[in-house]
This record gives sequence, C-alpha cells and structure tokens, in this order.
Amino acid sequence: MATYYTADYIMPVTSPPIKGGVVALDEKGLIVGVYHSSDPQLQDKKLIRHKGVLTPGFVNGHCHLELSHMKGKVAKGTGLPKFLNAVMSERTASQEAINQAMVEADKAMFAKGIQVVGDHVNTTVSAKVKAQSPICYHTFVELLGFDPAVADDRVDQARDIEYDFEPQRTSITPHAAYSCSKKLLRSLSDKVDANNIFSLHNQESDEENKFFRYKRGEFLDFYKENNISHDHVTANGKNALQNSIQFLPAENRLLLIHNTYTAPKDMDYVTRIGRDVYYCLCPKANQYIEGRLPKIQSFVLSKQKIMIGTDSLASNDTLDVLEELKTIHEAFTDLSFETTLSWATINGAKALKLDDKYGSLEVGKSPGLLLIKDLDGLTITAEAAVQRIV
Ligand SMILES: [Zn+2]
Repeated sequence: MATYYTADYIMPVTSPPIKGGVVALDEKGLIVGVYHSSDPQLQDKKLIRHKGVLTPGFVNGHCHLELSHMKGKVAKGTGLPKFLNAVMSERTASQEAINQAMVEADKAMFAKGIQVVGDHVNTTVSAKVKAQSPICYHTFVELLGFDPAVADDRVDQARDIEYDFEPQRTSITPHAAYSCSKKLLRSLSDKVDANNIFSLHNQESDEENKFFRYKRGEFLDFYKENNISHDHVTANGKNALQNSIQFLPAENRLLLIHNTYTAPKDMDYVTRIGRDVYYCLCPKANQYIEGRLPKIQSFVLSKQKIMIGTDSLASNDTLDVLEELKTIHEAFTDLSFETTLSWATINGAKALKLDDKYGSLEVGKSPGLLLIKDLDGLTITAEAAVQRIV
C-alpha cells in the first residue's frame, strides 16, 4: 500500500519543482510514483497534505561522528593549526561519554533529515552506532603521517580499522596535504583499487598554502610543537592542493573538503589534470575555525560539482544541513534554493556513489522524505525548518 504526500511544492531535485505535486511511497520508503497535481492516476487516492516543500533526505558529505563529544570544547576563531592542537589535546574522554555523544548526534542528524553521511574516522568506536543507524554511512578511514618513515605501516593499520566497519561502505583516505607525506600518498595509491573514494581536507586554512609555497607560517609552529619533521618538504611555490592531488591515482573519485582558500587557479589545475572531483563546503565549520567562508561564487562560475557537509561537533554547534544552507544563502543572496538543494542531496549522493538509492525523488529510490517549512515560496528564510516525514 502506497501513501500519497502532497505540499505547496515537491522538489524532486533531478527534475523541476512541481507546484502541488504528489509523491507516493510504499511502506518501506520506496518511491512508487511522482505526479503532477492533475494526474488522472490520483483521482481516487487519499492525499496527505502538508504546508511547505517536500524534498528528498539530505546527504551530509562530511562529518566526524567520533568527535561528537567535543561540542563547545574548542575555542572559535583560532585558525586551523591551533584548532588541530586543541582537538588532539581535548579529544580524550571516557568510552561511555564518547558513545553517548555519538548516539545522540546520529539521532539528531536523522531527525534533521540527513539520510546519508560521509564520515571520517581514526578509530573503530563509531562502528556499532553506524551499524544500528537508519542513516547510510560511508566511512572514510583517515591516514595520517607526515614523517615519511611511517608511511609503510599506516595503510595496513587503516585496513585493520576499515575491517570493523564491514559490511558497510568504507574507503581509506589521506587526511590532508599537511598531514600526509608524499611517500604515504604514493604508498596508499599502490594499495587501493579504483573504487576507493578519497575524501581530503583541502585548503581549510591559508596557512596550508603558505607552508607549501614558502615553508612559512603557523604550520611551522604546529610541526615544532608536535615534534613532526618537515625536512622532506621543499618550498615549491604551489598551493597545498597541487602538493597532494598529483600523488593520488587519477582514476579514483576525490572529495575535496572545505576549500575555504581554494582559488580559481587551483580549480583550473584540477580540471586540467582531468580529476573526478567534488568540492564539499562546510560553511559553519569554516566560520567556527577560520571566521570566513569559501568564495562560493567562483565554484559556481567555473561549474564545479558542489556538495555540503557539517564537519564535526568539534567545529560546529549543529549537524544540520539546512543550517549550512541558511549560512550560504545569507552570504550569497543570489543563489537559488533549487541550486543549493541539489548540492545538499543528489551531488553528495553521486559523490559517494549512492545515487541509485538516495538524493532525489525518483521512482525506485528510497531517499527519505522531508518537509521544509516556512520558506518564502521557494526561497529559503532564516525561519525555515525541516521535519522528517519518512
Ligand atoms: Zn573534517
């Protein structure tokens, strides 16, 4: 038995919004029909009416569930190197506190309409929560190791962690240019197959660029404080992105996370070398750590594939995709909700290779169903709120 839902608009995402449209889902949440209001097939059907806009569930492209206990623990506006130090020193907590925080964060994400999450881990602690969650997680096991001497062991260690997350979706990913040596990136490239999706923290801070271009800036202090050698790096005048992407295999899907200081010339470089890249924006985390947003218009102008992430509760006070969209719309007023909704749904689903099931209201998919309330027509407002219907 299907249930028929209608609202002021339905936004299927992969096709234009339908005024007064209807979407039908079976008892398992599978979409069995998408209709215009005048469709004769609806004649004898009982419709459940909502005020607002019906959309598919959100895809949160970037999170660290295992840092959920760190909400409010890290100072705002310090810049990235100091933020990283604070996370490393504050991250220890009891197993119970960590677990409780993850369970709550997972529940909150589902309630706020999130259907799919791309989630980074350094440990196996989140495996159980994920296995029991209604959310579909893709887990990225992070590789860290700036000292070339440790490169060989790290990939095998990551494999061990990855094993705990099966049979769910997993891959091994370098953490960031500033935390992975060239040798580690090459070793990873040798050991993964073409299906392994990478998710790399990229140009979250201009200090990353300064380090690789000139070997100057706050990362020198960061390495010194943490006893990490950077002797193997020579200043080469190139930004952090160019210093990492060239050592990763060309055929693998790559998600670039943050991109707060990514310039058009970086995007041109990625396009020129023919990489399959998605740019994941986490605006509230950028405001939290660096006090600024990426220049989103330049990504739009160069027609990049954009997706949305929340990052973790170490750098955000919510794991709420709608709040991320509000932050974007407040700063970039000429963007339409239709555009940013595609970033928050189908683009993330495609990036994680889950668009056969998620990311749009199409027959045969089970993407979840959300009601976005208090919009102004199809324009997002500060008061807009999300309610999960399915
Ligand atoms: Zn992150």
